[in-house]
Amino acid sequence: MTELLYLQDSYIKEFIANVEKDFGDYVILDKTAFYPGGGGQPNDEGWLFLNDKTAFEVIRVEKEEDVVRHFLKKSSDINLSGKTVKGIINWDKRYKYMKYHTAIHLLDALLRKNYGKAFLTGGQIYVDKARVDVDFPEMSKSMMPEIEKMVNNEINNGREVIVKFLSKKEAESIPDLARTKPGQELLKKLEIVRVVEIVGLDMQMDGGTHVKNTKEIGAIKITNFENKGSHNKRIEFVLA
Ligand SMILES: [Zn+2]
Repeated sequence: MTELLYLQDSYIKEFIANVEKDFGDYVILDKTAFYPGGGGQPNDEGWLFLNDKTAFEVIRVEKEEDVVRHFLKKSSDINLSGKTVKGIINWDKRYKYMKYHTAIHLLDALLRKNYGKAFLTGGQIYVDKARVDVDFPEMSKSMMPEIEKMVNNEINNGREVIVKFLSKKEAESIPDLARTKPGQELLKKLEIVRVVEIVGLDMQMDGGTHVKNTKEIGAIKITNFENKGSHNKRIEFVLA
């Protein structure tokens, strides 16, 4: 079982861990700050340092059940089992993912607040852009400047973003905590529910990493609007 450090603190950039087992192309650590991907947020990349001289690039991270696999680029057949390593996250990329992830929650919350119902059906974060799919038949391209302004105003308001762990009972008393079908199924199974709250605006079940304050996002710019059908619309944006 891998302890997931990023669930408690999204700002851990370096950590010390023990290699539980080296499987050749991947290792399992006793704890990790590497985000293994999920909920539209890509997995982290980075490095594992065995000592000052030997570093292995972490090229992919995956979570299966309760272990996280760190896939390494290895030039020798050194076996890391039982060794202590220092993990370093590629923070440049990760911090962008955090900004995009919180921006998506903000957009979701503001669409709900200003247009009156739930719209978000999916989203994907990349290192240089993000897209969201919304179920909003009346949405048109001409609304994009207004939506962009709405999001940027809230970014500027400097809302705090906090992570909470709720009991099943508390979680069930909050409406719309899980927005997607798979999320709602998962919520039924969990005893402890991790919730990301944009204070005063939004609360949702989430496993991702987020900035602490909306101000850190800076600003967004909507770069594309696509009509994907009578219901589904797609918005793409970048960090401005
Ligand atoms: Zn999320």
